[in-house]
Amino acid sequence: MATNRTFTMIKPDAVKNGYIGAILEKIQTAGFKIVAMKYTKLSKGDAETFYAVHSERPFFNDLVAFMTSGPIVSAILEKSNAVEDFRTLIGATNPEEAAEGTIRKLFAGSIQENAVHGSDSDENAAIEGAFHFSGREIF
Ligand code: UDP
Repeated sequence: MATNRTFTMIKPDAVKNGYIGAILEKIQTAGFKIVAMKYTKLSKGDAETFYAVHSERPFFNDLVAFMTSGPIVSAILEKSNAVEDFRTLIGATNPEEAAEGTIRKLFAGSIQENAVHGSDSDENAAIEGAFHFSGREIF
């Protein structure tokens, strides 16, 4: 069943660079409603579990080190066609390839330090949201 929710993280680079407010403004201006949100920090185990699908990739250890290097903002967002529309809003994984005006084009520095996460399917949106939030933290 299609869902109208997606999951995002404002990654440590964007938090460190002072972009939380600007990124949340882009998200809300694009019509996404924030239904859950927290300022938090991933443990090594959290990051390894969250990115387990990439565990055999050469960038995995660097990615885990980066994602645990500082605080993040995690959130569940609601909108019709949320997963696809949010992927469009954030742009390509590599900011050099991201379209003009996308969050990664505006705020990301590299393919690793790319400012934001966005779920890639409805199924993963539900899994990732549940990984970060309990039912009573979602409104
Ligand atoms: N990543 C990386 N090097 C790469 C590809 C990806 O460090 O060559 C990181 C990057 O932070 C990316 C994350 O791994 O956002 C997950 O990769 P994925 O291919 O799932 O990209 P996304 O869905 O985030 O656009």
